[in-house]
Amino acid sequence: MLSLEQNIDTNALGERMYGLAKRLYPICRSITGNGLRETLRILQGEIPLQLHEVPTGTQVFDWVVPREWNIRDAYIKNSRGEKIVNFHEHNLHVLNYSTPVRARMRLGDLRPHLFSLPEKPEWIPYRTSYFNENWGFCVSHQQLESMTDDEYEVVIDSSLESGALTYGELTIPGQSEEQILLFAHCCHPSLANDNLSGIATVLELARLLSSASPKYTYRCVFAPGTIGCITWLSQNRAELHKVKSGLVAAVLGDPGQMTYKKTVFGDSLIDRASLHVLEGKDAQFGTLEFSPYGYDERQFASPGINLPVGRLTRTPNGAYPEYHTSADNLDLITPAALGDSMATYLSILALIENNLVYQTKLPYCEPQLGRRGLYKTIGGYGNPKEGELAMLWILNQSDGRRDLLAIAERAKLPFHVIAQAAVELSSAGIIEEA
Ligand SMILES: [Zn+2]
Repeated sequence: MLSLEQNIDTNALGERMYGLAKRLYPICRSITGNGLRETLRILQGEIPLQLHEVPTGTQVFDWVVPREWNIRDAYIKNSRGEKIVNFHEHNLHVLNYSTPVRARMRLGDLRPHLFSLPEKPEWIPYRTSYFNENWGFCVSHQQLESMTDDEYEVVIDSSLESGALTYGELTIPGQSEEQILLFAHCCHPSLANDNLSGIATVLELARLLSSASPKYTYRCVFAPGTIGCITWLSQNRAELHKVKSGLVAAVLGDPGQMTYKKTVFGDSLIDRASLHVLEGKDAQFGTLEFSPYGYDERQFASPGINLPVGRLTRTPNGAYPEYHTSADNLDLITPAALGDSMATYLSILALIENNLVYQTKLPYCEPQLGRRGLYKTIGGYGNPKEGELAMLWILNQSDGRRDLLAIAERAKLPFHVIAQAAVELSSAGIIEEA
């Protein structure tokens, strides 16, 4: 039985994940460009990630890989020469994908290019304009209100040139060719929960799975949201039939409860496994039905792709006030929440790894377990009666078709109790893998 979550120090893991988020936080990422590349290279220093560069102009289904965006500097200076908005103070200050600008203008002309959040006057919003050529600055509403009808020097030293879209992938080979997909978007600049927490989760999962000799093959993908996911799917189309299950990982560092968003199928293995694990945790959790809106679960659910990929977050995107603002920072995420999210992911993957289908070899009435020493050898369950009950359920339900998870669900027992009992019955030669 593959054990992923046992002997794991989730506190230490949470601290390490937080450390990675802290290191990546200052980098100005986007859907292309050097910030994205630098991020993936840092991940490459941790795991043997393969980087892929997909050239500008490449057709990916209905989309085209855009020109590469890079930014060096951006500011607004007032007539006294004071920098009142400075990209180097916060990379959210620039509308992501801004075209270059170098101009002098009055506030009236600058105003349509300024974005703020009146309802949260101290926070800087995160805004993008990837596929619509535009330029702009995101500022706190307080900053905006302090601007007078002055003449401003406006500089955005950016470039939009032919280049590439970068994504990173690590394939961890298993005994089976069937694949489990773990996907994290990595295109957001200084945003901690939305972006960095998912990256840290998939990175640590990749590290643990690499040393676990798993049954399934794992594909850990770090790509920009939407266009990066579409690019990955387009470039891996021939392999997609091998994907058995998947999870989109994001928003995993805030103190809110965990939330599982179902796949488009609603009752696939990853749906059942995730909900069983969440139900067994000593904490509240939320469930969302599938909808074609949100993160990249929607790409995997499109009719031509049709893969059972769910999404596991803590507070869902858009449902926490700091979402897509400068307040989604390193104060919002905690090592404890990151560690807890990781533990949940590990339990779900361990469940899938150990979810075997057995056939009983003694189908005629209940086998005499006492004679085989099975009632005596049951240990480590916490509750020995649970272990005996689990054996009876397995013997009753192992018809060569039902998986262990279905038996755990019906018996209302934790999966690990059923899986442990199955190991013992299998070693005693009473059941065999179907
Ligand atoms: Zn986002």
